[in-house]
Amino acid sequence: MSRTLAMVTSYFDGVVPAPGEATKAEVVLGEKAAEAAAGLDRGVEALDPAGALEAVMSLARATNLYINEAAPWKLAKDPSPEARQRLATVLYSATEAIRQLSVLFSPRCPRRRGGSGHSSACPVWRPARSPLPSPGATWRPAPRSSGGRRCSPAWRPRGDGRRALSRPGSESGLDWVDAHCHLDDVGGGRKPSLQAVIERARAAGVERMVTIGTDLATSRAAAGIAAAHEGVWAAVGVHPHDATTLTGEALDELEALASEPKVVAIGEIGLDYFRDLSPRDVQQEAFRRQLALARRLGVPVVIHMRDAHRDVFGILEEAGAPERLVFHCFSGGPADAARCLELGGYVSFAGNISYKNAQDLRDACAVVPLDRLLVRDRRPYLRPSRTGEAK
Ligand SMILES: [Zn+2]
Ligand SMILES: [Zn+2]
Repeated sequence: MSRTLAMVTSYFDGVVPAPGEATKAEVVLGEKAAEAAAGLDRGVEALDPAGALEAVMSLARATNLYINEAAPWKLAKDPSPEARQRLATVLYSATEAIRQLSVLFSPRCPRRRGGSGHSSACPVWRPARSPLPSPGATWRPAPRSSGGRRCSPAWRPRGDGRRALSRPGSESGLDWVDAHCHLDDVGGGRKPSLQAVIERARAAGVERMVTIGTDLATSRAAAGIAAAHEGVWAAVGVHPHDATTLTGEALDELEALASEPKVVAIGEIGLDYFRDLSPRDVQQEAFRRQLALARRLGVPVVIHMRDAHRDVFGILEEAGAPERLVFHCFSGGPADAARCLELGGYVSFAGNISYKNAQDLRDACAVVPLDRLLVRDRRPYLRPSRTGEAK
């Protein structure tokens, strides 16, 4: 579903397109939506939460099925006017179904009355059964997280937001996963020791960590650290800066490392045209070969992409993106973020999102659904700014 919304952003500029003629599939989806709303009301009326939830879930399943069968990503590749019109119809219908789902899934507000009337009382979401208002409306992702949910006390941040960020474990009640760290960079006789760093992270609520390799030596180190420490996993790969070191033998060794039980991904790999520390064609070749390795092993990849969005997306599209991928330390605007989502990626933002001059990055963040969003601290670089100053 997030892929569908990303396609609205990238193909229709974030504006839900006007639909063309409905086929049987759209009619069926519309019926399912009406059934789900009625089933939810019946379930609530009869104090049968399981029945109510099942009614809504059946619409979720029908929507997924509709999207899979209509395959808008295939339509998008066909430039003919008929395919374009069909794409508009499919994206409109899928977006509308998702909108209705979000209304039906919204927690009931205790202080509001009526059946699914919650949705009509909510200033953000229109009632699920209202005439469809969407064509031409701008699809704004932000209300999804701040709208329906705001009504529920369960979704309010606990306590002081900033403290929750600095001491996540105990005060926010969340378990954190550090999906991108370089533990090979600490210890080695220096203070603090690796053990101390891991313990400190755990005390702060970081339950799991993925330590990332950037060349063969750090990949070996990452795999070793993961093997020796509970709660630590590793990714192995050759960074674009070191692309010239990716020989055939190096690739074989990466493959061997990747078969170790606690090595869970290939990375970080990608393209960096900002620092250009390796020739671009060599970077591209190393990226391609490691992507192929990840696809062969069926593991996720961690992507480093700097000033090279077009080529990264191009290579992923032409070679076929692995099923799971993380764009770490994302830079770029909303359209780039939408492409990342379309490719099935998770998008990770670092502290620079808080800088005054980073509006484009904040806009990009706004198009990423919460279930695809990663945040990271990335110390000691790109520290979050407390005052919003540009750096
Ligand atoms: Zn890194
Ligand atoms: Zn990186």
